[in-house]
Amino acid sequence: MFAIKTIFLLALICPSQTSQSLWDLANENKGLLRISTLFTAQNVRAYLSTDEGINNAIAWCKETGITHVFIETYRGRYTAERKVLQHAKSIFTSAGFEVSGCVTTTKIGKISTNWKEISCYTDKGTQEELAKIFEYTASIFDEIMIDDFLFTDCECDQCQKARGDKTWADYRCELMTKVNQDRILKAARAVNPDVKVIIKYPQWYDNFHNRGYEVVRQTDDFDKIWVGTETRDYDNPRWGRKVQYEAYYIMRWLGEIGGPKTGGGWFDPYGTTENTYVEQARQTVLADAKEMLLFCYGSLLRETGPANVKKLRTEIPGLFKLAELVRNKPIKGVHAPKPPNSDADEEMYVFDFVGMLGLPLVPAAEINPDAKAAFFAVHALRDSAFSDKLNKMLSAKKPVLITDGLAKKLKGVNLEDENLTILKIDGNPHNLLKLTRDELNSVRNKLLAPFGIRFDAPNKVALYLIGDNYLFVENFNDEPVDVSLEFSNVIKAQKTLVLPVNGSAGLSCTGTKLNLTKITPRTLIAVEYSL
Ligand SMILES: [Zn+2]
Repeated sequence: MFAIKTIFLLALICPSQTSQSLWDLANENKGLLRISTLFTAQNVRAYLSTDEGINNAIAWCKETGITHVFIETYRGRYTAERKVLQHAKSIFTSAGFEVSGCVTTTKIGKISTNWKEISCYTDKGTQEELAKIFEYTASIFDEIMIDDFLFTDCECDQCQKARGDKTWADYRCELMTKVNQDRILKAARAVNPDVKVIIKYPQWYDNFHNRGYEVVRQTDDFDKIWVGTETRDYDNPRWGRKVQYEAYYIMRWLGEIGGPKTGGGWFDPYGTTENTYVEQARQTVLADAKEMLLFCYGSLLRETGPANVKKLRTEIPGLFKLAELVRNKPIKGVHAPKPPNSDADEEMYVFDFVGMLGLPLVPAAEINPDAKAAFFAVHALRDSAFSDKLNKMLSAKKPVLITDGLAKKLKGVNLEDENLTILKIDGNPHNLLKLTRDELNSVRNKLLAPFGIRFDAPNKVALYLIGDNYLFVENFNDEPVDVSLEFSNVIKAQKTLVLPVNGSAGLSCTGTKLNLTKITPRTLIAVEYSL
């Protein structure tokens, strides 16, 4: 009788309590993967100035599985009021949230001669104003995220003169590193010795050094790093031209540089549809991020935001599962290094496109000739020992793929070597998305031979090898696809996760072959296998 009553009560309660259950689930899983959002300084003014506004925000966060909020003090010449910030912080904390601060360093002091959101940091007045913003923020919060505008593109007379004979990249990296140390970290820690400051790197990794982001020194200096993973929609006229693999590449690349300092990935709804919005979340989690930040509360309440969030909520239980499958596991595949501060020339973000070809990449910051297989682009020339390392790999008969741009610049390497394949890019990595299935199979089968794998798939189907017994296949196309993998041994396999929740694929194993059939559009499949 008791049991029947309980079931009856649960049946009555559950339909109205689904939002509660996502909040509970998020709290149970926050050690694995935390979900957060940001209230920009303008959002603080618009939504957190009244108790009603704060309560609405709390309800929305709970329904979305968000357990950590960032409350911003400054953005674009607007500073949120201390009493509003403190009150919001206290209410969110009482409601069970973790609460941090944030600063967006736009329009501070003297404005850049180029982008008008950006400042001239050579200017002492700008530096002093920057320090004040961080002193103010550190007086309220114990953790401060800095949104990805902490760079400069100014070319004013003062900057020209201070630069002297240096390149812009070298001057800006020196300048920003010093400004960060003196005017952010020192200033904030003087007010609040316990404060932790996070540098969030933008998504545009091939241009970091040109504008003063110096990922090695700055990662050393800050307490934590975060990563922009906003790939949006490739076909969107305003925000597009980014492929989904970029979020995975940059999150893994910075994850290797940051090690335990690596926090989460951050993406937004601009120029997305529901389908491309949730792909950003999947890529962020697949790349082992410990947290994902949904930028930002105000933007998620309008335009495409509500539909995006609705779809994301359906995927959150699956994203926790995904985080569990990948957490701290080594990844296998083709070594794909971008040395920090390396120039891309005409091969901007080529790694993202190569990932879209179904080559499982292992992003790295240093060139390691002990890798079993490798992909190198012009970026590799940053390493003065590159030719020797490449020759070492070739003489060990390891398969190596290089871009045509790199081939043109190489000296002392036999381009006819049978283990070397040259990938034709013609100065435009977007061209790679036109390669046919047959062209791709031939490249993939060479590169994957050391792993005992052959992969037969059309373009825009990514493959990830994570841990010893997991592989992930992701169809980024708008059509269903059939793919197969062939192993050197008899394989047993089963699907353990499919995202989106209404996605599907057939799985069958015949001897050494694994077939995944009719993988629905924009779908990620996790497969557990044993050989
Ligand atoms: Zn300047």
